[in-house]
Amino acid sequence: MIVLNGKETALAVREELRVEIEGLKEKFGRAPGLAVILVGEDPASKVYVRNKEIACEKAGIVSTAYKIDAGVSQDELEDLILKLNNDDSVDGILLQLPLPKGLDSQKCLELIDPGKDVDGFHPVNVGKLMLGLPGFRSCTPAGIITLLERYNLPTSGKKAVVIGRSNIVGKPLAMMLMQYGDFANATVTVCHSRTAGLAEEVKGADFVFAAIGIPKFVKKEMVKDGAVVVDVGINRTDEGLVGDCDYEAIKETAKAMTPVPGGVGPMTIAQLLANTVEAFKNHNS
Ligand code: NDP
Repeated sequence: MIVLNGKETALAVREELRVEIEGLKEKFGRAPGLAVILVGEDPASKVYVRNKEIACEKAGIVSTAYKIDAGVSQDELEDLILKLNNDDSVDGILLQLPLPKGLDSQKCLELIDPGKDVDGFHPVNVGKLMLGLPGFRSCTPAGIITLLERYNLPTSGKKAVVIGRSNIVGKPLAMMLMQYGDFANATVTVCHSRTAGLAEEVKGADFVFAAIGIPKFVKKEMVKDGAVVVDVGINRTDEGLVGDCDYEAIKETAKAMTPVPGGVGPMTIAQLLANTVEAFKNHNS
């Protein structure tokens, strides 16, 4: 079985970006800038933000973290977003989710300038994805497509099952897989908690994408021999970090599969850097 090593692939992508950023800095006289807003003390969010900061620093992106007290008001948070929208040194704005209770994350996301929306969550960018127009793509699904490209596993003409219909993973991934292109052109089925006969749907798939949030939800018996399995899940358990798929069992019969950790997670960060570089180039063009 081919292990889809997201850690190595992401490092390769990040190195390519580092080289590109060096050239961009020389050409435009400044480095790409990413503003990261972290509200409150959620431990997982703090780790994600730290990892993003480190990755930015290594690639030559200036990342500025705005660490804000959980007691911030909606108005204050919106003011900060508007200020960053107007700051020419900021190419990308990332609002780390989830926000503490009482804050309206959708309203905040919609305030971010779509040209700086490097997470690809703004309705304008979501709409552009739907229409197949250029725009920022949600980092996790876009990172998954890059991983398939790098391992030359085209989805064109294949049956793909996406389990999960969240706005940040399942839906945009399904939308990307049904666009035109070698690493798209799939016949896509989206499953969720109300899907009847989910196991049979998954069994028919050449590509299985699991974004559920339940440890080892996808079992070996559910997956066709020779399928490609992409596990998005990150579940903290007594065994440590576990994906949504039973890796040890499925790896016996799958053609290729992502491990957890070291699969999709690192690709998400690499895509964030790629989107930030894209935003920088757009601002300078
Ligand atoms: P959400 O909780 O937003 O969505 C989960 C989806 O799974 C929902 O659509 C839900 O269905 C579906 N689901 C839940 N239970 C079942 C079930 N029993 N059968 C079928 N479908 C079910 O999660 P996210 O999409 O945000 O994240 C999914 C996983 O991916 C999590 O483990 C998360 O930590 C991880 N993740 C990893 C990232 C990475 O970079 N590697 C990035 C983002 C997320 P319904 O809509 O009907 O409720």
